[in-house]
Amino acid sequence: MKAIVLFSGGLDSILAACLLKSQGVEVVGLNMVTPFHDCSKESIERAKEIGIELVVRHFGEEYMQLLARPKWGYGANVNPCLDCRVAMCREAKKLMEEIGADFVATGEVSGQRPNSQKMHQLALISRESELGGKLVRPLSARVLPRTEMEADGKLDREKLRSFTGRSRTKLVAYARQAFGLKTIPQPSTGCVLCENSYAPRVRDMLKHKENPTIWDAKALAWGRRLRIDENAYCVVGRRLTDCQALDALFADPARSRCVLLSPDNYMGASVLLVTDEAPEFGVENPEISEKLESYIQTAGALSLRFSNPEKYSSAPGGPACRVYVGATKILVPVREDPEADKIAVIMESNEPEKKKEAKPDEAPESAPAEDASERDSE
Ligand code: SF4
Repeated sequence: MKAIVLFSGGLDSILAACLLKSQGVEVVGLNMVTPFHDCSKESIERAKEIGIELVVRHFGEEYMQLLARPKWGYGANVNPCLDCRVAMCREAKKLMEEIGADFVATGEVSGQRPNSQKMHQLALISRESELGGKLVRPLSARVLPRTEMEADGKLDREKLRSFTGRSRTKLVAYARQAFGLKTIPQPSTGCVLCENSYAPRVRDMLKHKENPTIWDAKALAWGRRLRIDENAYCVVGRRLTDCQALDALFADPARSRCVLLSPDNYMGASVLLVTDEAPEFGVENPEISEKLESYIQTAGALSLRFSNPEKYSSAPGGPACRVYVGATKILVPVREDPEADKIAVIMESNEPEKKKEAKPDEAPESAPAEDASERDSE
């Protein structure tokens, strides 16, 4: 028997895979990379550690449609978890059919996450992914309706588990005692859509673009985002890596219309100005509208706002930027502008939230094993 296990490399998916392996099931892990969550590196390491094959697949532009119009809404931030889980399970179903596996399993624990793992939500995911009775949650199976795999006697329901609720203590103890796992991954979704500091930028994108693309998602990840008006925003580099990323975003043929400003005679911040007023990718000698000219002036003022005045005030002839418009480069003098200084940065904090370092879980080695009272229902 062969199963596809949706595998993030977190504790729950590791346990689901180990539990099925212990029942003699051949496990193939599937790691799904979204434009906002890439845990493929960790999942490759964890898959090696527990000795399973791993397939990594990426969501494409369809994920952006899901984000823009989630059928089942958002969680606490802009995380469309139910839609996302359904989409992942559909991908798992595809892989199951491709390689002739018998069923799909996940590490979901009933009641663990308020936005996607309540009983009725688990049922919804099974139904909407069209996996139905072929979707097994080994960690909570005994508190969930019997699946096709259990009914057919292919999986021994009694050997599956009945974990529920949000506490990880018993899962950690089970991991150590049943499978001898020494390193327990920290609980973290790693999905920036759940982060308070990231969500305002995503909301700004969704508010102003009906059909955002993966390029738009990539532009969220760098520098400071500042909106000039309904039709234009700027991404201002904070450090060298941001400025290099802005160069790469501008060079991408799949990009939205934009203009790149790069300081010419001072050390300072590059700015990507994104607006429909900008010409298409690669256009030679494009016409520059009055509106675009005014946006470029504001973008130049933003470059100065986030640069060191000592560096640009001594620039010979006054500060200037190389401005890349379509396939054409022009030199444009830039100056400070009090109005540009009033534009708010669309972030709740100045830095993305720090990722928690992966270190062994602190639960004591002697934590009690799962027992008849393991239910930790909400
Ligand atoms: S946290 Fe992010 S990756 Fe995880 S289910 Fe929700 S939207 Fe998808």
